[in-house]
Amino acid sequence: MNRPIQALTSVLSFPTISYSQRNLMNDEVFIGCVNALKTHYPLTFTQASITTFHKHTYLFHLKGLDNSFPLGLMGHYDVVPISNTWTVPAFQGVIVDDYIYGRGALDMKGHLVSVFEAVERHLEIGKPFKQDLYIMMGHNEECGSDEPDSGAEAMMLYLKEKGIKLHLVIDEGGDVLDGKRLHVNEDIHVIGIGEKGYLDVKALVKDAGGHSSTPPPMSALVEPMKLGVYVETHKFKPHLNEATESMLKRCAPYAAFPYSLIYRFPTLFKPFVFQSLLSDRKLAAHVRTTAVTTMAQGSSSMNVLPQVGWINLNIRIAPHQSGKDIIDYLNKVKGSRVQLKYDFANEPTPISRLDDGVFEEVVECFQTIYPHMKLVVPALMIAATDARYMHDISEHVFRCCPFDSMKEDKHTVHADDERLSLISFEKGISFFSKILEKFV
Ligand SMILES: [Zn+2]
Repeated sequence: MNRPIQALTSVLSFPTISYSQRNLMNDEVFIGCVNALKTHYPLTFTQASITTFHKHTYLFHLKGLDNSFPLGLMGHYDVVPISNTWTVPAFQGVIVDDYIYGRGALDMKGHLVSVFEAVERHLEIGKPFKQDLYIMMGHNEECGSDEPDSGAEAMMLYLKEKGIKLHLVIDEGGDVLDGKRLHVNEDIHVIGIGEKGYLDVKALVKDAGGHSSTPPPMSALVEPMKLGVYVETHKFKPHLNEATESMLKRCAPYAAFPYSLIYRFPTLFKPFVFQSLLSDRKLAAHVRTTAVTTMAQGSSSMNVLPQVGWINLNIRIAPHQSGKDIIDYLNKVKGSRVQLKYDFANEPTPISRLDDGVFEEVVECFQTIYPHMKLVVPALMIAATDARYMHDISEHVFRCCPFDSMKEDKHTVHADDERLSLISFEKGISFFSKILEKFV
């Protein structure tokens, strides 16, 4: 077994599950996981200056000959819990038919080990880096990375305080879209260049309760539900953001007519663009704020009126709106008895720069390793990653997937029998070697 496979096998054997109830997190497995990396990548660990945050987040700094264009390679080594329906052991790094199985294989220990392997290979040659390199390894991305102990945020604040601006940050979050969705005959490999915002709103009504045989005009549960129904049947208006616009423009040369024309001039053909995107629920999320009812609660008994009825609205905010816009809107459309409760909104991030060639350089790295990737395009990330913090200290924050097997295996992320193709794993390492060659 070669070193990266050995390293990934041992890293996968530590159940580094993160919980929002922080006392459930097992310090020992986090320490064990980092020690496993250290065993396999001694040069990286000895040559880097390492700063830790909130016990288990690690920032590695490898000095280059110059520090004007530092590179940040980012990732998290915590994972989500497993179900009891896995058909292979989830924490052993089992290899079957050229695949390595285990919670975190794709999300995202495989990605992190690829980074470490590429860096270690570079250090073994003994050639100095031209630029400073940071490896940013967070420990609580999967659960409550909005909490005050977010490892990623701590790293960002530390770098910001030191006045360090990262030239480029690469984190997880790339995806492969089936080209047919955009009338294209190629797979579309997307790099997330900005992220939607996130907001949970509890809509709640308090009432006297009592026996269900003598109901009030409307129960405390139905009023919040009416709000849920309203927002789901009156979708937010679409808006063409920069990221989606760039995605379409880059797809245009590969799209069938008339989409080749429509995508080439998306602003001009906006109504047609929206018609095309809104008919696909995944693409619709790229052009508008989405709101969906994810939870509801009434009374605890079948024949008891609820004293409190509530629903949770989970909202993903498009770049042209803010948390305040959404709350203002909900206040306007809710019933008078409905109260809105929310902690805070993660605002949408800025969109990374595309006008200075850095994006193209990353695309070139992809296409050198994967010549079949004709379409590598920028896109809006519709889920949340730790990379969102880094927009504060970098104009180029790119969410990439270094593995082309992602297309076949993305359904295993956060699901049973998570796996990574070993062929893809080796290519992922080559991808990061290319990135190092080009940027540091
Ligand atoms: Zn992840």
